Amino acid sequence: MMRIYVARQRYDAWLVADRLNQLGIRAHVFNQHASSIVGDVPPDVAQPQVWIERECDEERARLVLVEFETAAAPAPDVACPACGETSPGTFDLCWNCGNSLAGASPSSITG
Ligand SMILES: [Zn+2]
Repeated sequence: MMRIYVARQRYDAWLVADRLNQLGIRAHVFNQHASSIVGDVPPDVAQPQVWIERECDEERARLVLVEFETAAAPAPDVACPACGETSPGTFDLCWNCGNSLAGASPSSITG
């Protein structure tokens, strides 16, 4: 296991992990509920992190991260109709509760 990415937002971590897993790179998100321990640990340890299982996947994972950072899609966030958490507009399912976001409307665009 090795840490490949430290995210600012929980859904950033999920987005990266999801992309990695799609490509066959086994990835996991840690510290997704880190806010409860902030104060006890350094901020970079408390932030959401993406770890990959196999270090031999690092090179490919780094490429995915570059792609992720450059793409940084300005897709509008959507609020989950079930739990109210905000997910990226590119998500089909709520990262938090798994509810479909098909009926959710982006807050910043119309149509
Ligand atoms: Zn939800």
